[in-house]
Amino acid sequence: MGGAAYASLTPEQKARAIARGKLNLAVYHGRVKRQSCEVCGATPAEAHHDDYGKPLEVRWLCPTHHRDHHQKGAAHEQDQAIRGRAGAAVLDRP
Ligand SMILES: [Zn+2]
Ligand SMILES: [Zn+2]
Repeated sequence: MGGAAYASLTPEQKARAIARGKLNLAVYHGRVKRQSCEVCGATPAEAHHDDYGKPLEVRWLCPTHHRDHHQKGAAHEQDQAIRGRAGAAVLDRP
């Protein structure tokens, strides 16, 4: 680690890099076991940190579900928008 590239990272990116480093080390030493995707059971799964302050507490998600997990906020909003529209249609009746 170190160098100009590292210095240009945002605090969150730095925290993520540190958390990943610690996790990789823990996996390497067998302290943390790689698991299959907690959603569909696929392997290999990627480690997802809910909290970078707890580098060894991760969820294992396949690339698809990992991406889904990160997009959940946006997808949820979309869902709400669709539901909102449907609700509006119902409420539209005279
Ligand atoms: Zn999956
Ligand atoms: Zn993630």
